[in-house]
Amino acid sequence: MSKEKIWLSPPHMCGKELEFVQEAFSSNWISPVGPHINAFENELAAYSEADHCAAVSSGSAAIHLALIILGVKAGDEVICSSFTFSASCNPIAYLGATPVFVDSEAVTWNMSPDFLKTAIEDRMRKTGKKPKAIVLVHLYGMPSRLDELMAISREYEIPLVEDAAEALGSTYKGKKLGSFGDFGIFSFNGNKIITTSGGGALVSKNEEFIGRARFLATQARDSAPHYEHSSIGYNYRLSNVCAGIGRGQLSVIDKRVEQRRFNFQFYRENLSETPNYTFLNEPEGFFSNRWLTTILVKGGYDGRERARLSLENENIESRPLWKPMHLQPVFAHCPYYGDETSNGLFDAGLCLPSGSSLSERQLTRIVGLLMA
Ligand SMILES: *Cc1c(COP(=O)(O)O)cnc(C)c1O
Repeated sequence: MSKEKIWLSPPHMCGKELEFVQEAFSSNWISPVGPHINAFENELAAYSEADHCAAVSSGSAAIHLALIILGVKAGDEVICSSFTFSASCNPIAYLGATPVFVDSEAVTWNMSPDFLKTAIEDRMRKTGKKPKAIVLVHLYGMPSRLDELMAISREYEIPLVEDAAEALGSTYKGKKLGSFGDFGIFSFNGNKIITTSGGGALVSKNEEFIGRARFLATQARDSAPHYEHSSIGYNYRLSNVCAGIGRGQLSVIDKRVEQRRFNFQFYRENLSETPNYTFLNEPEGFFSNRWLTTILVKGGYDGRERARLSLENENIESRPLWKPMHLQPVFAHCPYYGDETSNGLFDAGLCLPSGSSLSERQLTRIVGLLMA
């Protein structure tokens, strides 16, 4: 008999989604325009504390639009966290620009302010140009060292895009992630803390930026009775049906953050008897949504694989941490600044099942296997 499957981070519906979707169907607002889109944008703008929001078809599309609006062009360089998912830097390549990877620091696992500064100085020396933007990732929901990183962004006048795809609901010194940079971006892919089945959003304090994002995301149609175009456009809008799912999901976001944080606490308390696992702690003022609970396993790669396979044999999905971008074959030619902190995290790190619908019985089953 096969054992009950436990997924890493499955979608978790609250019930209200279907009402909103039903409403979209009854009113025949099925396309990428409609009342749910406007409402979802307003609700997300308010929740994220960033004032303005454009809902789009994915987090990747949101990053792509942010970089276009910040003027990134072919031949430019854009700084990006190395320790992340490839969607953070793929849009840099879409634009014919080159990612410059900056490694993590050990406390948050996010971008090192020291190496960011080194990278900017060295790129200016070598190319005679400033990098065009910084894509800063708050990985697994943990806030980056925003005071230091923002100070560098301001000092060199390089705009900051917060990739908060994994960090909706996290805060830094009491303020929501996504509201610090020139842009914040979110993802509502199926495995994120809330989902629209697939979708994303850009948020910003700058209303003009968000207006521009909506314009570019709807094929850049100039105002005219016929179809008139003076810029290249994209088909990147979120559908009204998906926005309905998003509204249901967003109505329970605080509860989802609480549930994900409960998972983390449960793992940490119940795995504390063994010295085999260490956890990522929140420094003072840092509040993580704990999208995924991550552990470092003693014994590096071998220890991590042993833990992962012991779960896999019992039909439980876990996953190594993201493989850093500077180690990816497709980005091997790109400049990199750091001390390989993320290489070690990748070797020893494992993401444990972290869904908000996990039961205590399931958590106990996972802990039992990890303690064996
Ligand atoms: C999921 C994710 C994205 C991209 O989101 P999609 O909606 O899947 O395009 C970007 N950055 C990070 C760090 C992510 O985890």
